[in-house]
Order: sequence, then structure tokens, then C-alpha cells
Amino acid sequence: MERIGTFGASRYTVGQLQLFCDTNHEQIAAAIAECAVVRLRKGARLEDAHRPRLYIVLSGCLSVEGDQRGLSDSAAGQIYPGESVGEQSVLDEAANLSAIGAVDDTELLAIEPELVWRLIDSSNGVARNLLRLLSFRIRAVNATLRRREKLGEFYRQLSMNDALTGLYNRAWLNDVLPGLVASAHAGNTPLSLVMIDIDHFKRFNDTHGHQAGDDALRLAARTVSAALRPSDFAVRYGGEELMVLLPNTPEHVALIVAERLCQRMRGAVVFDTPDIPMPQLTASFGVASLAAEQDERALVKCADAALYRAKEAGRNRVSL
Ligand code: GH3
Ligand code: MG
Ligand code: MG
Repeated sequence: MERIGTFGASRYTVGQLQLFCDTNHEQIAAAIAECAVVRLRKGARLEDAHRPRLYIVLSGCLSVEGDQRGLSDSAAGQIYPGESVGEQSVLDEAANLSAIGAVDDTELLAIEPELVWRLIDSSNGVARNLLRLLSFRIRAVNATLRRREKLGEFYRQLSMNDALTGLYNRAWLNDVLPGLVASAHAGNTPLSLVMIDIDHFKRFNDTHGHQAGDDALRLAARTVSAALRPSDFAVRYGGEELMVLLPNTPEHVALIVAERLCQRMRGAVVFDTPDIPMPQLTASFGVASLAAEQDERALVKCADAALYRAKEAGRNRVSL
């Protein structure tokens, strides 16, 4: 950053600067005549970034970098001739202009804090322009924060749901199951779990191709979801394994739910042409309910063992 003269001796005029819009230009020109005009080479950063100071772009362009965008002194991504940065640093004396750099060779008018305050005191127009500017910035920052919040929620959702089926994924399960188990123990309420594994799915893939396999998996997920109450949860546990969590549900009710799921799965139409081999999708179901002093790992293990028994007994059925 190099000093190239004063504003009074430069080719620039007060009328070009937003901060002085609708003010007495002669009075302002006299007040800022001795202020420094500095040049920032393309790519260079503002020096003294931690010192409060108001800068007005006279020519060229500044940019506010990445993360600071919208949350720094300037809410705008780019600052063009006539616009300013650093007003807030002057007002609250907390400067951080380090994220600001020059996009092109840029000439800046630098106004020291004491003079900014004198201008505010002596010109209603300057005070009004500053208020308006800060109001714009607050709105822009609020909008940025709202956008980030929404984006964060979107990605959080994304990371908790399985991309193929839309069901909750394993990460979600790891997050939620310990809490469900703890509150079932604490409230002495039942909690049941159904482990589901699609039958002969390897053969299904081999016969119809992986794409059709994916479609069948989506269909299985929809079938399970549609048969559940709003308080139940469906999870894609692994490849072609799904899991259903049934809070407040004792074992005999979980068995009824699993029987219903088994029947719906059998009835789900994968291909509507019966001459295709394996037109049906079936699955095996293992049911387990939380026992006293059991943790989530033991509960899942029990459901897994029950599923194994359902497979052993011939598939397309429910087992305890
Ligand atoms: P079983 O009745 O004993 O469960 O037999 P199976 O063939 O279903 O069991 P196995 O575990 O041997 O095979 C599971 C198959 O599921 C193999 C794998 O290719 C398929 N699979 C797993 N995830 C996906 C997926 O996302 N899409 C598709 N199309 N297939 C998958
Ligand atoms: Mg399997
Ligand atoms: Mg299987």
C-alpha cells in the first residue's frame, strides 16, 4: 500500500462518493482535503487491518474474501468506486479488515476515525448516509446467516439420510438409538426393534441387474415406511438390510407390526409382468425387545439373531 497524495490534490471529487451523497460538497471537500489517497496493487491486502479506518474506493475494486463475506465490515462481496469499507470499525473501534484485498490496482481514500466522527458531528447528511449503509449491512448479514442456517440444516439432513432410499442411515441410528434405549430404561417403557433382510437379493441382482435391484430396494423402503406409525423409524442398516425402531412398543405388538411388514413386502409389486422370474420381493424379519439392563448393542444383536432364525426357518417370515 503506497501513499500517492492527498484527496484535495487528486482528480477525484466528493460528488462521486456515496457517503457524501446529499451533503454540502464544498464543506466536505474542505474537511477531507488533507486525507491520504493510497494505492493498493492488484492482489494486495489492506495494511494496518487491525486499525480502525474508513476507506472509500476511488478507482479499481476491493473484494471481501470467502468466509468473511457478508460477516465482515462490508457485507458486499465486492466494493466498487464510490463505496466504502471500515465504517463499522470506526464506530465500534473493533477493526478487522484483514479479509479485504484489491481485485485490480485500486486507489483508496483513507479517513482517520477522528475525522469520521467530526464529519458525523458536523453533517446530518453524513450521519444519515452512514445509518442507511449500516442498515443495509445488517440486512445483508442477517440474510447470509439465514442462508447458512438453512444450508447447515440441509447438509445435516443429508448426512442423516440414506441417498438411495431416503430412510435414516447408520449415522442417524448411532446418534439416536442410545438415547431411545436410555429413555426406555428411564421411563420403564418398552422399545422394540425389527431387523429386516431382503431374501435372495443377490439372485435378484444377478437376474435383473443392479439397477432393478436398486429400484427394488427403494420399493422395499417405501413399503416399510408406508406401513409404520409416525412415531416409528425406518433405517437402512446396510446393503439390503433395513431396521425398524418401535418406541413404546412391547414384543407382542412388535410381532404384529413385523407380520404386517412381511405381508406388505410380499404384496409389493416389483414388476407387473408375472412371466418374469422372481416377480415378488420377500424379506425375513427378526424381532427383539429391550430387556432390563440391556444396552443398544445387545438389543441389535438379539434382533440379528432372530433374523438369522427367520432365514434358517425358510425366509419370508418373522422370528423372535
Ligand atoms: P439371503 O436371503 O440369505 O439374505 O440372501 P441374499 O442374496 O439377500 O444375501 P447376501 O447377503 O448374500 O446378498 C446381499 C446382496 O444385496 C448382495 C449385494 O449385491 C446386494 N446389495 C446390497 N446393497 C445393494 C444396493 O444398494 N443395490 C443393489 N442393487 N444391491 C445391493
Ligand atoms: Mg444381507
Ligand atoms: Mg439378503
